[in-house]
Amino acid sequence: MAVAAADPWRSLSDGDREQAQGPRRTDGRDCKRLLTPLERALRERIRSDGPITLEAYMEACNAYYYATRDPLGASGDFTTAPEISQMFGELVGACLADCWTRAGRPGKAIYAELGPGRGTLAADALRTMRMAGLEPPVHLVETSPVLREAQAQAVPGAIWHDSIDDLPQAPLTVVANEFFDALPVRQFVDGVERRVSVAAGGLAFDRDGQVVEQSPARAEAAAALSGSIATNGGVALVIDYGHAKSAPGETLQALHGHKFAAVLDRPGEQDLTAHVDFEALAEAARSAGAKASPVVTQGLWLERLGIAARAASLARRHPDRTEEIAASHRRLCDPQEMGSLFKVMAIHAPEWPRPEGFE
Ligand code: SAH
Repeated sequence: MAVAAADPWRSLSDGDREQAQGPRRTDGRDCKRLLTPLERALRERIRSDGPITLEAYMEACNAYYYATRDPLGASGDFTTAPEISQMFGELVGACLADCWTRAGRPGKAIYAELGPGRGTLAADALRTMRMAGLEPPVHLVETSPVLREAQAQAVPGAIWHDSIDDLPQAPLTVVANEFFDALPVRQFVDGVERRVSVAAGGLAFDRDGQVVEQSPARAEAAAALSGSIATNGGVALVIDYGHAKSAPGETLQALHGHKFAAVLDRPGEQDLTAHVDFEALAEAARSAGAKASPVVTQGLWLERLGIAARAASLARRHPDRTEEIAASHRRLCDPQEMGSLFKVMAIHAPEWPRPEGFE
């Protein structure tokens, strides 16, 4: 696929994944290779306690992975929308500021971001929020020490938290881009939870078949965020790749060096994500007392917010970058690229208006 060859992000179809990984292997691997430090620890844990759930595996892998590197960009494993173009963060900031304005400009509002990566999205969003008269304190929910350092460079004065529960009790303007996809999923085959065991040459799944995924970790995060929004006021934009309606199927995938890999290979050294079930997030948000918007595609949402006008104005100011700006616009919005696989949903307090771009 042309897009994958250029620079895959976490967004290809099942067919592409199969092609990249080859047939699924649930048996042991025979390749002689060095174990990663995490794989050694996991093998010991499984030998002493028995097979671990896929959810525990994904959680352990991602905690190790993010704690030990900056995975973004050309030298890393994947690229995200804010790293493609400043237009993405600018439109997120404009959307949040507009919603805050229509909510009556509550004085103590803060900007919060979940999993802010390099801080690029925050810096771009805060710039446009400032132009709308909103200069909020910045609170970042981030567990990785490496990424916290990058965020400190991009967003001076930010305050960090390990968890959503630690955010201040204040009206929130929040964005979470590619945060929920990194939270662990459970997988079930014929109603039985899938586990990871030790096999001859590596790790292996204990069962195979038609998979159903669920993510209590995501529902919990969405409920914590929505509970705070319902109580204190606020709005959150959740942007991720995934589906608007719950459906069975396996979506867990691994990326290593911008290529798909097998999910049990190189534990802790590759990016593990699964598609986000927006219906489940919306349900968690509503149960916590907040409102959830319809789910729209990223391409449609950015076009409705005026990305074409923003691209034209940027190109006028930087004529030498006209082609690059047009290419970023296409990457973010084209249905063949990030435009339709990525979705956007807003969660907002009942007394706050629905943000722009959702109808
Ligand atoms: N939003 C950024 C980065 C996406 S990568 C962007 O769009 O570029 C996922 C981000 O979530 C990273 O910053 C990672 O460190 C963070 N993250 C992953 N799991 C987390 C967890 N359980 N708690 C807090 N942050 C987490």
